[in-house]
Amino acid sequence: MRRAIATVCLSGVLNEKLTAAATAGFDAVELFENDLITSFWGPERIRERADDLGLAIDLYQPFRDLEAVAPEVFTRNLRRAEHTFDIMQRLGTGLVLMCANVGADAIDDDDLAAEQLHAVAARAGERGLRVCYEALAWSRHVNDYRRSWRIVELADHPSLGVCLDSFHILSRGHDPAAIEDIPAEKVFFLQLADAPVLAMDVLSWSRHYRCFPGQGDFDLTGFTRHVLTAGYDGPLSLEVFNDVFRRSDARRTARDAMRSLLALEDALAEATSADSDGARLGPDVQLSRTPAAGEPSGMAFVELAVNDLSGAPTEAVLSSLGFVHTRDHVSKPVSLWQQGDASVLLNRNASRSAGDVAVSAFALETPDPELSRARAEHLLSERLPREKGPDEADLTAVAAPDGTSIFFARTASGTDGWLADFIAPATGTNTPGHGTPDVGSARPSARHVTAIDHLDLPQPFDSFDEAALFYRCVIGLQPQQSFELPATYGLVRSRVLTTADRGVRLALSVALLGTGGSSRTEPEPQHVAFACSDVLGAARALTRSGAHRLEIPDNYYDDLDARLAVDPQLLAQLRELGVLYDRTGTGEYLQLVTPLVGGHLFFELVQRIDGYDAYAAGNAPVRISAHRGVTMRRQPRPPGSRR
Ligand code: MG
Ligand code: MG
Repeated sequence: MRRAIATVCLSGVLNEKLTAAATAGFDAVELFENDLITSFWGPERIRERADDLGLAIDLYQPFRDLEAVAPEVFTRNLRRAEHTFDIMQRLGTGLVLMCANVGADAIDDDDLAAEQLHAVAARAGERGLRVCYEALAWSRHVNDYRRSWRIVELADHPSLGVCLDSFHILSRGHDPAAIEDIPAEKVFFLQLADAPVLAMDVLSWSRHYRCFPGQGDFDLTGFTRHVLTAGYDGPLSLEVFNDVFRRSDARRTARDAMRSLLALEDALAEATSADSDGARLGPDVQLSRTPAAGEPSGMAFVELAVNDLSGAPTEAVLSSLGFVHTRDHVSKPVSLWQQGDASVLLNRNASRSAGDVAVSAFALETPDPELSRARAEHLLSERLPREKGPDEADLTAVAAPDGTSIFFARTASGTDGWLADFIAPATGTNTPGHGTPDVGSARPSARHVTAIDHLDLPQPFDSFDEAALFYRCVIGLQPQQSFELPATYGLVRSRVLTTADRGVRLALSVALLGTGGSSRTEPEPQHVAFACSDVLGAARALTRSGAHRLEIPDNYYDDLDARLAVDPQLLAQLRELGVLYDRTGTGEYLQLVTPLVGGHLFFELVQRIDGYDAYAAGNAPVRISAHRGVTMRRQPRPPGSRR
């Protein structure tokens, strides 16, 4: 199918937008009037540039408030329309979008609207041009696609059809099934946009929060199926107004947009091949398929980038949590720390700023790593070059939008597993903080960690939606809860994605406002949460070991008592050990948080009891404040000030 994108989706001047769209592989654009008006290029020059880039201009838009008006207003509107038709001919564009009237003077009369649309379509037809009529979600009277179609039917002119826009239809909760009743030749254009479900007026919702298919909450696959079943075989065109996309890198946004269409086509092909409706698709509808890689079954390891300053403190914390340094990489300065099924790699090779620690990579166990890589590449992910020794495992990695490397691995202990590249640490490697190199002598009472439970990775402001789509369609995770947390300096949005069996859990977070020059915000820390069979036991062991513990305010426990009436004995232990708690239904959650390691990372031990499936979002402000508190207490108090 042809793939198109509206110029309004992208940042920059017109040439930057066109270049970005072409680079991402789009066949066509919808040209926005404003992008033309603000351009120093005349329509012919714009057409030439689009031609050079191999881009068609499939639609010119918007033409507003034409129909259902008094005769003298309509006369003026026809003059405007003729001017638009002139521009279209100079652009070589055959189709214009007319939005149903939003003006206060629009008359609630379908016959009048049809008569005036017929008149304008006749003028367009004389020039070989066509008009498509779109019901906006906030049009004065015609805000339902079933009504815009009725008017087009009434107008009955071959140069007049409808434009269907998923946002206008789904935001109002209109059933898209009746699209199938519209004859294919009357659906002139299809615009696709997703959006998060928000309780707000449709105009602001549309103008600020539209996003690419798969980034929001609408069922774009179901919607588009109705349009294809109707027989539509024109372009799939993205029309997304989004505050962040308008200011982010246009090439990156265009690639993200293309990825969303490839994933949508694959979902459509999957859905239509699953039942007999598939046969009803038009003969020209060719949907692109993406290699099916299968769901990841777990997280094989998480890799932390450390350096000479931060390596030892990180090892000390891992050791205090019961981790053991079990192996070293055969050729790289990478050490493996393990406990239960949780594996942490410390990579001393990674150049981080002094003393910092960060998640630089993680590995997903997938049934067929090569297929996972092929899927990622088909969906426009960047493959990362990898240096490896002759006999070492060929781990394939792709870059997530924030630059984190994602490996696809098999943990099998056979020759192709990543573990084969790790050997027992040389005896006598007694680097400070190396804990207990001998597995057998580890303190068994302190070892309650069973696996990696989840990663929480704060994302750059501009690429949060891109990351959500990446993890959803490239990696195959399903979006779960989304919530907003009050951090110390501003609100943070968090979005959880998991596999169906929860073998992989990932939380992405982002500040709700981008940082300006005077902002006090710095990135929220990353965290690695380990599943633990006995958090209270682990907390006691940690206390005995004399390791640093994060102090939790007493007020938190008083509030916990008030809210959840936690059993007094348990409450006393939580308070004594600095363990956080949550409960939903019968499920309970115990959470032990370490102090920050290196400034931007901490670890958690979490225990899920009776099917608890959340992340204790309510505890996050306490945790954030506790981490900030430590930082503040480290600052010397001004002389004479009192605590
Ligand atoms: Mg639209
Ligand atoms: Mg967490």
